[in-house]
Amino acid sequence: MGKVDLKVELLRYTPVPEEVIAMGAKLCYTSSDLDDLKTGIEEKDQGPFVNKLLDMGHLSPVEHASFTFGIEGVSRSLLAQITRHRIASFSVKSQRYVSEQSEKKGGFNYIIPPKIMELGPEMVAEYEKQMETMQGWYDFWIEKLGDKGESSNEDARFILPNAAETKMIVTMNARELLHFFSLRCCNRAQWEIRDLAREMLRLVKEVSPNLFRSAGPGCLRGPCPEGKFTCGKIKEVREEFLV
Ligand SMILES: Cc1cc2nc3c(=O)[nH]c(=O)nc-3n(C[C@H](O)[C@H](O)[C@H](O)COP(=O)(O)OP(=O)(O)OC[C@H]3O[C@@H](n4cnc5c(N)ncnc54)[C@H](O)[C@@H]3O)c2cc1C
Repeated sequence: MGKVDLKVELLRYTPVPEEVIAMGAKLCYTSSDLDDLKTGIEEKDQGPFVNKLLDMGHLSPVEHASFTFGIEGVSRSLLAQITRHRIASFSVKSQRYVSEQSEKKGGFNYIIPPKIMELGPEMVAEYEKQMETMQGWYDFWIEKLGDKGESSNEDARFILPNAAETKMIVTMNARELLHFFSLRCCNRAQWEIRDLAREMLRLVKEVSPNLFRSAGPGCLRGPCPEGKFTCGKIKEVREEFLV
């Protein structure tokens, strides 16, 4: 068992995502038929189609492109937050089928919040000691429940903390991603899901720059939607995202 850090990879995505979205736009707004669309849309023409859709707020064609991320080094606390996004698809490491027992599997890994890291080595050691205590509780219950794999794991896991690491594969279409980024890249979002969202945004911007050009917190595209809860840093946020 031990501390782990966030790891995110863009595993797969719709090939040439902006072309398939541009096809949707071209079908809507021109007299093109399928034979025209099948010949493809030149790269130089894809951006204008995508920009037109985004400017108009005509977002259903954007749903044709999907992005699949592999995510490790995140807490079960993050899992509770990200799975609130109902349009996304998830595959999450099971705490029933996969044991966290120290003896056989090396125990559970965990996330240490940055603010606890900042308290210094003594406090980090205290946190790690607490994780080891919980590992002991988990191992205790596995043994008491007969060490019968899945049927013991499913109850012993009740003793594990929110800090316990999970791994997942997440797929979102681009419309859902834009929505996810507007909520979770915002300074009001909790630090762990914010760090994840920002890294996901960096990855998709590399492969689909037009689509995600102005993606990020809502304040990039208008006034801060958080009202009295605003972080008050709209200028800095825009400088950070709109490069
Ligand atoms: C800063 C912050 C603080 C939060 N605090 C809390 C909290 O204290 N407690 C809490 O419970 N949650 C909290 N949440 C989670 C929040 O309430 C949402 O559950 C989460 O952000 C998912 O948003 P969503 O429903 O828009 O997204 P998605 O589920 O991804 O849905 C995307 C969009 O699809 C549409 N949609 C999806 N499903 C439906 C439906 N059934 N009916 C109609 N339209 C639908 C909506 O337009 C929705 O915006 C917080 C989120 C943030 C960002």
